[in-house]
Amino acid sequence: MKSKRRLKVKSAGKINLYLSVSKNCRADGYHEVKSIMQSINLSDELNFEVIEKENTDTSNNIIITSDNIDIPLDEQNLVHKAAKLILDKYNITNRYIIKINIKKSIPVAAGLAGGSTNAAATLVALNELLNLNLTKEELLGSAGKIGSDVPFCISGGTALAEGRGEIISNLPNLPFYWVVLAKNGKKFGTKEVYKKFDSIGKEKPSIHKELIEEIKNKDFDNFLKRLFNDLEEIGLLEDETITKIKQTAYRLGAIVSQMTGSGPTVFAICDNLKLARKIYDSLKSLTNSVFITHTKSSGQNFASI
Ligand code: ATP
Repeated sequence: MKSKRRLKVKSAGKINLYLSVSKNCRADGYHEVKSIMQSINLSDELNFEVIEKENTDTSNNIIITSDNIDIPLDEQNLVHKAAKLILDKYNITNRYIIKINIKKSIPVAAGLAGGSTNAAATLVALNELLNLNLTKEELLGSAGKIGSDVPFCISGGTALAEGRGEIISNLPNLPFYWVVLAKNGKKFGTKEVYKKFDSIGKEKPSIHKELIEEIKNKDFDNFLKRLFNDLEEIGLLEDETITKIKQTAYRLGAIVSQMTGSGPTVFAICDNLKLARKIYDSLKSLTNSVFITHTKSSGQNFASI
């Protein structure tokens, strides 16, 4: 082996503060969405090791390990897809072995973009470790090829996501809010939730333009009170705990409580830590999977550690 380079990166999850979905798929099978996404401080830790090869053997180039037995470690892992995309694009598959360890804190299949943020971190880390000098635009382009939520995870902060979620317009950062997250054991398949929305969901006119004006005017109270997620009604049918979590959060004083993405995680936004702790303690009696975190501004979604 010639030389080794290492990098440790934290990759942050997201919540969908607002999610408007157009019914029925586009020709490419995706739904058209308008979503206001927000980075949160709940993060996974990724350890990257790039080893220069002495021979040109191309087998088993990308080696993924994790403390979480629920995620795939092969080509199905979005981190693998991101690393392969970089190696193929720059024709350097025969030059490097990439080892990536993923320490998960973000619950899997929870609507928190766990896999997408890991993939985004992989693009950013390999750009640095392999001295590729890719611009943010180039990273965003590659991110969109891996998954709809990956470009947002590159940008972070507060942003509008359009198209199938991959077209990102950065918005001014929201102020700091505490965020309580809670999810039941049930896993939701994103595809199944969208399919059910097509058959029984109600499509509402999107209010993203008004919401963006409210952010720009710093009218955060109105902004937070008008949020909705079109997929929530499907989530409520699938998992009654969602209703209970929301009722508890509102009763205790959350500014807003809503399902994120295609579920099943519910977030509750709070303006002080005392309230967040109170909601956290109450939700603990409903489900084991409860977290206190907070909003994260743009530029903070990856921290080298
Ligand atoms: P999103 O909010 O972007 O729709 P999610 O948070 O609901 O995503 P993920 O945690 O990304 O869901 O998991 C979705 C699927 O992706 C799971 O079936 C999981 O096995 C798979 N997966 C692939 N790579 C990863 C990864 N690095 N971390 C977590 N899940 C991964």
